[in-house]
Amino acid sequence: MAHGAHRSPLLPPRPDLGLARDCEVCLGWGTVVTRDGEHELCHACQTVADDDAGAARADS
Ligand SMILES: [Zn+2]
Repeated sequence: MAHGAHRSPLLPPRPDLGLARDCEVCLGWGTVVTRDGEHELCHACQTVADDDAGAARADS
């Protein structure tokens, strides 16, 4: 929805629970906790384009 918005470290990530459902890495949460205690999207099931600058922008 808010495409192009920068990822704020203050807000928890919004995982797609549908994708996380059968994931055994995050156990269905869609997020994993880093060593710093921060929640990150599970890299195993949440295929999000983290680097927006490198992605091809469909700006038409
Ligand atoms: Zn996962």
